Amino acid sequence: MLIKTLPVGQLETNCYVVTDEATLDCAVIDPGDESNLILDYLEENRLRCEAIFLTHGHYDHVGAVEAISEETSATVYLNRLDDRDQRHDPHFPFHLPPNGEYYGDGDSIEIGSLRFEVIATPGHTPGGVSLRCGEALFTGDTLFRGSCGRTDLTGGDMEEELRSLKKLCSLEGDYEVYPGHMDSSTLARERLFNYYCRAAMNS
Ligand SMILES: [Zn+2]
Repeated sequence: MLIKTLPVGQLETNCYVVTDEATLDCAVIDPGDESNLILDYLEENRLRCEAIFLTHGHYDHVGAVEAISEETSATVYLNRLDDRDQRHDPHFPFHLPPNGEYYGDGDSIEIGSLRFEVIATPGHTPGGVSLRCGEALFTGDTLFRGSCGRTDLTGGDMEEELRSLKKLCSLEGDYEVYPGHMDSSTLARERLFNYYCRAAMNS
């Protein structure tokens, strides 16, 4: 598994391209902006984009979805609770196209030999999810290195956020954590040093 981080847009959203190096099938997580940058990377490496996974529906995570799904015909996945039709809020501009699929807790999707498991992690948004693939955990804006996502936007809920952090921190073993913004981390590090994770674990 090869993970490429492409920070895109004004808020430097981390777009991740996760590739099965054997088959060159890949998934793009949170293409927030700069579709050309992302498509160039796919083309230069001759990757076949099979899926676009959205960790949540906020505008800074969905800006390049349309361009990339049109170019690659990849299936777009989103939790229904973050769809524009459910939220009616400018922070949630995205409506799933007809060839997209709503996904939620416990779903798993195979891309080449990679298996992505969906873990519902609401709090930052009602439809927030994290994705587990092998030793990697893509946490969107739920868990950041040393911090967590804000809960003051429409649909945010700090109690839910803490429950979601507890759920992630309770996963067995260690994972490399790939958040929606800023640097990556490990789950072991966050369990130890992240104030919000510690509060969540003790609640
Ligand atoms: Zn967000």
